[in-house]
Amino acid sequence: MAAFKAGYILFNKKMFTNNHKLFKKTFLFVSFLFITQIIYSQNSTDSNFASKNTPVIYVNVIDVAKKLGAKFFFDPLTESGSLEKNGHCITFRTNESVFMFDYQKLAILDAPIRKDGLLLVSKNFMLTAEEFFKTIPPETHFRVGAILIDAGHGGKDPGALATHTFNGKKITIREKDITLTVAKNLNAKLKVAYPDKQILMTRTDDKTMTLEQRVEIANNVKLQPHEAIIYVSIHVNAAFNKNANGYEVWYLSPGYRRDVLDKDSGVEKELLPILNSMMEEEFTTESILIAKLILDSLEKEIGTQSLSRGLKEEEWFVCRNANMPSVLVEVGFLTNKNEAELLNDQNYLSKVANGIYNGIEAFVYHFEKSRGFD
Ligand SMILES: [Zn+2]
Repeated sequence: MAAFKAGYILFNKKMFTNNHKLFKKTFLFVSFLFITQIIYSQNSTDSNFASKNTPVIYVNVIDVAKKLGAKFFFDPLTESGSLEKNGHCITFRTNESVFMFDYQKLAILDAPIRKDGLLLVSKNFMLTAEEFFKTIPPETHFRVGAILIDAGHGGKDPGALATHTFNGKKITIREKDITLTVAKNLNAKLKVAYPDKQILMTRTDDKTMTLEQRVEIANNVKLQPHEAIIYVSIHVNAAFNKNANGYEVWYLSPGYRRDVLDKDSGVEKELLPILNSMMEEEFTTESILIAKLILDSLEKEIGTQSLSRGLKEEEWFVCRNANMPSVLVEVGFLTNKNEAELLNDQNYLSKVANGIYNGIEAFVYHFEKSRGFD
């Protein structure tokens, strides 16, 4: 939980609720990775050269937003900001001269800077933004197209194991069984709620699967343009300390370097690292949001029986190669006798699945609703 709070000291009050808006178009960009032309317009290149010869006039981004009637969002953690208006979005970062327009076009302009606690953009950028917001917005509706549920472990890999005595009976509880039960339960709920989305599972029975196979499934899901995929991995914890208990939700660390942009996407080589880190932070933002929503929903569902251990971030991750918001839910500790008893109870696992389901549902609702033209 601490990591979450630290990462989201918000620029303004509205930002948390609108946080997902900041990067909602990530998915468009990724969906279009192979078909989108990344264009450096002659104009923006020219203006870049021009700005090198003449002194740059800077203006406060807040004033620019006001003047243009655009909404401004900023994440101080990643130093990335966006201006949104009429269904258009311009994304940028301080001290970077690459600007993304609707996640489809790039332009090189004077880098935004921080000065005296203000975020300043060039007047040149303001004029470009003004023109851009006048254009017709892309006719797109963003939606979650697929949800991939990953039941951790399976087959030869049982995951964590623990033997406890309940009512005089010795019972060995295996992580792979619990994850499959929760995954199936979640799958059934999602299928009913979203008949128009692909609800997929990495495994539906007691099958051995490598991490590579899981990641491959995730990366091979066919999506329509403007569709996003969510990856939810389910696991069960174990610890030497028999008292350890509770559930936790993991998301990918912002520090993890992934190659989000494809090498063949036609982007100039020197820009790839910048763009990659921009894209990566966007996935992280979505991952944090869905992780938080799942954690909160689990709290409502099983909060009286188990303990919330909060949000966690890690660099190792089942889905570290997948280009999508991904979370990993550790539903409890089987090494804790009380919790093992709960995890051995089908009703409890159904509640766990309910909690995860409600979190996903909240995320889908926000994600799909946020694509507004307000
Ligand atoms: Zn596991």
